[in-house]
Amino acid sequence: MKMRNFGKLGIQNSAFGLGCMRFTGKMVDGKNVTDDELAKNIIRGAIDGGVTYIDTAYVYIGGHSEEILGEALLDGYREKVNIATKIPPDRVQKIEDAEEILATELKRLQTDHIDFYLMHGLNKDKWEHAKAVGLPQWFDKLKAEGKIRYKCCSFHGSYEEFEYIIKDYDWDMVQIQYNFMDVENQAGTKGLELAGSLGIPVVIMEGLLGGKLANAPENVQAVYDAFPVKRSPVEWAFRFLQSHPEVGTILSGLTTMEQLEDNLAIFNKEESDELSPEEVQLFKDVRDAYNARTKIGCTGCRYCMPCPNGVDIPAAFRAWNNAFMYNNLGPGNWDYKRLQRDNASPEQCVECGACEAQCPQYLPIIESLKKVTEEIGG
Ligand code: SF4
Ligand code: SF4
Repeated sequence: MKMRNFGKLGIQNSAFGLGCMRFTGKMVDGKNVTDDELAKNIIRGAIDGGVTYIDTAYVYIGGHSEEILGEALLDGYREKVNIATKIPPDRVQKIEDAEEILATELKRLQTDHIDFYLMHGLNKDKWEHAKAVGLPQWFDKLKAEGKIRYKCCSFHGSYEEFEYIIKDYDWDMVQIQYNFMDVENQAGTKGLELAGSLGIPVVIMEGLLGGKLANAPENVQAVYDAFPVKRSPVEWAFRFLQSHPEVGTILSGLTTMEQLEDNLAIFNKEESDELSPEEVQLFKDVRDAYNARTKIGCTGCRYCMPCPNGVDIPAAFRAWNNAFMYNNLGPGNWDYKRLQRDNASPEQCVECGACEAQCPQYLPIIESLKKVTEEIGG
């Protein structure tokens, strides 16, 4: 197993970290429940294969993820790995709430300490809330008492929010969404390099963009096929991540033993992490091939917002583009339903035209919103 440096912490962890957000289900008495035995076999198989970092959270599978992990780490496995788990700041109104959550997590995980403890899914608003309720000072205290080893956060938001949060506290590690399609999205390459310059190790989530990069659409696969070195789309995605020295562990959420074997083989390969100029070009070509599949050239600048009727125009276009870029209409439809739930879906457009006058790309917003409803609103 390849090992990766963790910046200023002066430690190493396996390049491949096991994510425990979802496990395979099975039917029992007409109900779909987690296949605990399979999940435990995956966890122990990963550790036997050299994985030293396992990621879960208070909210994953309604808390059952931490319980499964706690069971899997009996019989001497706990000592072989670092546990990363998370506290949801929005469920904390006072420190007593946080203490109760941590106590529950330690019980579920059957351990007396957490190695990497993360404030879950920070953006600027959540971070301000975390500060208002005293979570940073509480993290300091937990570290001093040895209940947690490292003070960390996971992040979803813009680069500006990331820069603010990362410089606002003495973080030991940050976890970001990053992959070859998200180089300019969320924290992005700029955020990754900022963390590196501060010596803060970075753990990567969404390296396969929620699995979307694992199955390349035809035009993207053609780009991979034309390259002289053959790798699966999954291996290419992980290779891109490993080429960044700032990257510590790369999380991968698995649901089958076959996927575990595949991941172990990828992260065991003895080869340089540095990309050749041809490989750098390959990632550009693959990115272009994905981008060629977009439905509309919305840059997400939000100059068209707010819509007086509540339509979240850039979110609707993002959902539409993503559904076609990754050949994945299901998630596009979920995104659409989420917009409907938030009273922000394209159907609310009354064609007032205010947005079109503001769009620097001169996009036909009104007609395009109708197509969004037709193509992913069903
Ligand atoms: S045209 Fe539709 S989407 Fe644009 S501002 Fe008016 S109501 Fe909102
Ligand atoms: S102004 Fe145009 S490009 Fe910018 S978010 Fe709105 S639709 Fe997209």
